[in-house]
Amino acid sequence: MNDLAERVARFNSSLEDVCAAAGRSRNELTLIAVTKFHPAEIIRELCALGITDFGESRHQEAQEKAFALQDLSLNWHFVGQLQRNKAKQVSAYADVIHSVDRETLAAALAETDHCVECFVQINLTDNPARGGVSLAGTERLVEYISALPMLRLRGVMAVADPAHDPRLSFEKLRKASERVRSLSPNATAISAGMSHDFREAILEGATHLRIGSAITGNRPYSG
Ligand SMILES: *Cc1c(COP(=O)(O)O)cnc(C)c1O
Repeated sequence: MNDLAERVARFNSSLEDVCAAAGRSRNELTLIAVTKFHPAEIIRELCALGITDFGESRHQEAQEKAFALQDLSLNWHFVGQLQRNKAKQVSAYADVIHSVDRETLAAALAETDHCVECFVQINLTDNPARGGVSLAGTERLVEYISALPMLRLRGVMAVADPAHDPRLSFEKLRKASERVRSLSPNATAISAGMSHDFREAILEGATHLRIGSAITGNRPYSG
C-alpha cells in the first residue's frame, strides 16, 4: 500500500471505531475528502480507493479540478467562503454548497436554471470575520431560503470554535439543527467534523464529515 491508501485505510478504521462507540451506523455518514491545495491527481487516486465525495474551498481551483475530472462520477461539495458574484459559476459544478450564510448569497444562488442543494453555515465563534451566519440569525436565513424554490436546504454546517472543546460547538450546532428542522423539515443534515474533531462531531449527530489532512496528508502549500 502507498501512503495515501494507508491513510485512507487508517481513517476508515478509526471511523468504524468512532461509529461503534457512538452507537451510530457508518451508513448514516457521508465522508467528504477535502482536497484543497492538492492537485487533481490525488482526487483520481482517492476515487480509485472508493471515495466519491470531494470538498473544495476556492472557486477557481475547484472549477479547474471539476473540469479536469469530468470523466469520473464524483460529488463536489463547495465548503469555502463564497462571494455573491461567483455564486452562479460555483453552482455550475458544485453538487452541494455548504457555506450559504447570508440572504444576498442565497438570492444569487437561486438565480439559476437548476435546483441547488445547500447548507446554512453557522458561525460558532465570536469572530464575525469567519464564515457563517450567527446562531441568532439562523432561523431568519432559513426562512428566507425556504421561500426560494430553486434552493434545496439540506441542513446546517459549521467549523468548531478553536477556542473551546469542539464538543461544545457541535452540541450548539445540533441544537441549532433541531430549530432549523422545525422550520424546514427536510433540512436534517449536519455538516461537521474535520480531521481533528470528527469524533466529537459524530457524537453530536454529524451526517457529513469534511476530512482533509487525515486523508490527504499535509497540504502542500496554503497560499
Ligand atoms: C480545509 C477544510 C476542512 C478540512 O480540514 P482538515 O483539518 O484538514 O481535516 C474542512 N472544512 C473546511 C470548511 C475546510 O476549509
